Amino acid sequence: MDPDALDAVDPLRGFRERFVIDDPNLVYLDGNSLGRLPIKTRERINQVAGQEWAADLVRGWGKWFDLPQRLGGKIAEIIGAHPDEVIVCDSTTVNLYKLAHAAMRAQGGRNQVVTDALNFPSDLYALQGIVHGLGGQLELVASDDEISIDPSRIADRLNQRSALFTASHVSFKSGFMHDMGAVTETVHAKGALALWDLSHSVGVTPIRLNEWGVDLAIGCTYKYLNGGPGAPAFLFVRRGLQDRLQSPIWGWFGQTDPFAFGLDYAASCGVSRFMVGTPPILSLAAIEPGVDLILEAGIGAIREKSRSQTAYLVQLWEKHLASLGVALKSPPDATRRGSHVSFGHPEALRIAKALIEKMNVIPDFRAPDNLRFGISPLYATYREIHQGVERFAEVIRRRQYEEYSETRPSVT
Ligand SMILES: *Cc1c(COP(=O)(O)O)cnc(C)c1O
Repeated sequence: MDPDALDAVDPLRGFRERFVIDDPNLVYLDGNSLGRLPIKTRERINQVAGQEWAADLVRGWGKWFDLPQRLGGKIAEIIGAHPDEVIVCDSTTVNLYKLAHAAMRAQGGRNQVVTDALNFPSDLYALQGIVHGLGGQLELVASDDEISIDPSRIADRLNQRSALFTASHVSFKSGFMHDMGAVTETVHAKGALALWDLSHSVGVTPIRLNEWGVDLAIGCTYKYLNGGPGAPAFLFVRRGLQDRLQSPIWGWFGQTDPFAFGLDYAASCGVSRFMVGTPPILSLAAIEPGVDLILEAGIGAIREKSRSQTAYLVQLWEKHLASLGVALKSPPDATRRGSHVSFGHPEALRIAKALIEKMNVIPDFRAPDNLRFGISPLYATYREIHQGVERFAEVIRRRQYEEYSETRPSVT
């Protein structure tokens, strides 16, 4: 299928020009690691720094104070939650720590956390730290093929000692997507709470936390939400749980009345008790225009395009890459996949280097042998995907990767 013909009939094609496209020839397939800069965001940063900070100084707090809740309300709309169930604060890892710790403490005699081997390493580290501190155990559900998790294995692993199940909705490496509603139901049937990491699915796939009965969730804003490098994360606590959970980090922004400067901590009501210290206003302000773009485009249309584009990429793999020794490391079924596709090749590291340094294509490399092609439907074109695959094939055919060293850079 001709990529230009597909681009011509793409209902979301107008959104690409809402982003800064600095180099029109760059094939950017890493929007799942760092989303592009929306044009409005650049204006917003200038406004908040150049006008509000510059002129309003400390008086600016009148405008800034409720930003974590206001932005949370907008993200809630994207993830199927009530506006008072979501706030934006801290990093994803810190939010996982706070919520998983709180869930463990609330679960009385149960001291196990169950997760799976496809979860994000930072999540696993945070969980290891929690069970170390609380004297519990972390149980890891294995993946049979390193691509997906069999839900029956989760059910088998849960028992009357399980306090919490937590996993990435979409796995960072293979792109596998759990059936969040079904798994949450299984988790509840065993008396455990469910905490989902939405980092690789928010903004690109429909999520209905309330409908699916989810207890807790966290997620990142700098991937498909295009919030900017290191933008703070969000957290969700369902209404019925909010006043039963205690944050393990007691700070003044989680206190009932921070500016009373009382000497004793009293947890604020609602989800805001999971805030800790002063919110990073410049980074927070930069998140909003990207979230507005997602709301404007509509998550249904975004998912539709994402599915079509990942399917197109898989078709091109079959035609041009499979015969060159490239393996598909993502679920072949688009309904079980997020918006990135992983490929395996023994020379993945050097191929990634050649693509980035010589071919003006940006995928990313995930050790030991994975190349990820992330597709952010608001700005990715079919033409770009086609060029990415063409150049990928060329690097292998001409053995261009041989010019690069096998040393892994410190950031990939
Ligand atoms: C990107 C990502 C994170 C990022 O964590 P930070 O603490 O924000 O660095 C966490 N979990 C998952 C699943 C991710 O994909």
